Amino acid sequence: AAGDSTVLEAEGVTMRFKGLVALDGVSLAVPRGEIRGVVGPNGSGKTTLFNVISGFYTPSAGAVRVDGREVTGAAPYRLSQRGVARTFQNLRLFEDLNVRENILLGLDRTRTSWIWRYAAAPWRVFGYQRDLDRRADEIIDRFGLADFAVAIPRSLPYGIQRRIEIARALAMSPTLLLLDEPAAGMNGEEVRRLAEIVRSIRDSGVTVVIIEHNMGLVMSLCDHVTVLAGGRVIADGTPAEVAIAPAVVQAYLGD
Ligand code: ADP
Repeated sequence: AAGDSTVLEAEGVTMRFKGLVALDGVSLAVPRGEIRGVVGPNGSGKTTLFNVISGFYTPSAGAVRVDGREVTGAAPYRLSQRGVARTFQNLRLFEDLNVRENILLGLDRTRTSWIWRYAAAPWRVFGYQRDLDRRADEIIDRFGLADFAVAIPRSLPYGIQRRIEIARALAMSPTLLLLDEPAAGMNGEEVRRLAEIVRSIRDSGVTVVIIEHNMGLVMSLCDHVTVLAGGRVIADGTPAEVAIAPAVVQAYLGD
């Protein structure tokens, strides 16, 4: 059962596409402040699970709860209001905007509605743009992006583009951050930097769920790992526990 400290709960989530069962009764519970890894062979349902959690797909069966509230089938914008932010396997940055503008766009969609934020103190509306600018600068500094603030993302190395995408997601002040293969295409130094950033995000109170193929990163970064194969959870435990689980060894050898 989910207590106060469970940020994400999936219960019996099933997702069918025509004849194909991409997720088959997936249940998991992620406590607040955890870095949870989701791993599994290609086609095991990892991205589909993210799409269900972030509202891009409505599951055929089962329930999703965020912070104890049912959000099953809610639209992506609703989920983002509930504090769920995500990145995508293929980068989705705004190509015509510079790095700073991309991050500002994340900020503008913060969770508290504009009306409520200023209802109690309407004069603060005049400081709105200044607040946004200050927060954008904080995030740019925190992610080491100051040198690239006015660059167009496409002109930057791939690892930095990935970092920008995470920065933009974090700009939304999420409770739950979903990262879909953040280390893909990164070199060793960039992966090390990414791990530091994800830890600092977690330390600031954000719960992180990360799909990742880089097993070294999963082992060193994640507190807990859920392993999917064929749309089912085949193992769930600490990185050390799942690494030696027979079902996991079998699933990867069969891949
Ligand atoms: P993973 O992220 O673990 O590689 P996916 O979640 O992308 O796995 O895919 C799981 C299965 O669901 C695959 O067989 C994939 O082809 C199928 N699938 C995913 N999305 C769709 C979709 N929109 N329509 C049909 N089949 C899909």
